[in-house]
Amino acid sequence: MSTDQMQSGAAGTAAPPPHPSHTPTRALTAYALGLPAQPDTGEISRHLEACGTCAAFVAELEESEGRRLLDSPPAELWAGALGFALAGIARPQP
Ligand SMILES: [Zn+2]
Repeated sequence: MSTDQMQSGAAGTAAPPPHPSHTPTRALTAYALGLPAQPDTGEISRHLEACGTCAAFVAELEESEGRRLLDSPPAELWAGALGFALAGIARPQP
């Protein structure tokens, strides 16, 4: 009877996660929604560039939020809304 059926060099089947810790879902959600709550947007951006899992999550969330906005009834804007939005867009990136 042979006993040389040992599995040598098996690296395992479960792939390790791309990062030791992903960005928390709550921070990703705030990032996707453009909320100012997250402490470090730059850190999240860098993680999204390297991590397809989190990037896909954010992209999916952004798309679903966009669809929700399109489906929502039109709302009346206040007088200074356009200037407020443009000021936010023109703000320099950190
Ligand atoms: Zn990740």
